Amino acid sequence: MGLFELTKSLMSIPSVSGDEKAVGLYLRDHLESLGWTVELQAVSENQNNVIAYLNDSPRVWLSTHMDTVPPFIPPTEDEDKIYGRGACDAKGIIAAQITAAEQLRAVGIEDIGLLFTVEEERASTGAKVANVHPMATRCQFLINGEPTDNDLAIGSKGTFRLNIRTAGKAAHSAYPEEGESAIEKLLDILDDIRHTRFPNDDFFGETTVNIGTIEGGVALNVIPPVAEAGLAIRLTTKREPIEEAVRNVVRDRGEIEILSASEPVRMHEVEGFRQKVVRFTTDIPHLPNWGQPLLLGPGSILVAHTKDEFVLKEDLGTAVDLYVALVNRLLPHRNNET
Ligand SMILES: [Zn+2]
Repeated sequence: MGLFELTKSLMSIPSVSGDEKAVGLYLRDHLESLGWTVELQAVSENQNNVIAYLNDSPRVWLSTHMDTVPPFIPPTEDEDKIYGRGACDAKGIIAAQITAAEQLRAVGIEDIGLLFTVEEERASTGAKVANVHPMATRCQFLINGEPTDNDLAIGSKGTFRLNIRTAGKAAHSAYPEEGESAIEKLLDILDDIRHTRFPNDDFFGETTVNIGTIEGGVALNVIPPVAEAGLAIRLTTKREPIEEAVRNVVRDRGEIEILSASEPVRMHEVEGFRQKVVRFTTDIPHLPNWGQPLLLGPGSILVAHTKDEFVLKEDLGTAVDLYVALVNRLLPHRNNET
């Protein structure tokens, strides 16, 4: 099956996070029909990672995720582009990786594996389960795919998600001196957060803060007793100094609830590839047992997760060439030959 046809076939099977069973079975059948050994690794009752290989100890693996964000958008195309959910994030990438693996196999390179995970778009649950698979310990390089505009990502920022909660004292709004406004406290804290200079990093760039949610209060004529804001901080340093800075801003004015955190990751660099740092997080922090990570894929993160998601057909083809070139550079026996 051709690259574009495989991309569209995968996209036409809905696989919003939590609903990846059908696409996993399709991939198993497709890869088995090509002659791969395929394992379904159970993640939950209805979710399986797909793990495929040609020999029993591949040193280089190509990997990405099978799930998408909602809603399902069926594939359409014109001469230049394929549109729809998963075009670049990440079903076009699955198709490009399989096509690259088949090209490598056609010239006798069988030291490769394919790992397709579930739930990357939520909590990377699939990657966490894949991390303890016995094949992991023999893997030297994991080439993960996310839309990087076909650049080799040599670093990705981390994410630190937290809630800040304030408490006040309810009172009739005509007698504010009888109460204490949780919303005004929260606004003061958030204003201080907005004027805080968090540490940056020369390699990873700027630490950025998004105040993503805010709620509080009970009615217009009541001094608000509670308020809460949710923040997502894109980390360019370890989490500790950032958490400490947030605690120093909040002090005893509110409570902090930490929701999740992943550190920024440095990835393997390969000469001769266009390289950059990306701001999004991937499965990679959850796959530490799978050797040194690399990250590259066709398409733009700026259209991923939008209703206008697309991938350029030309970029899919280029991605196949880049995956083939990367594997050739990483496989030790190939390096010795040249
Ligand atoms: Zn993705």
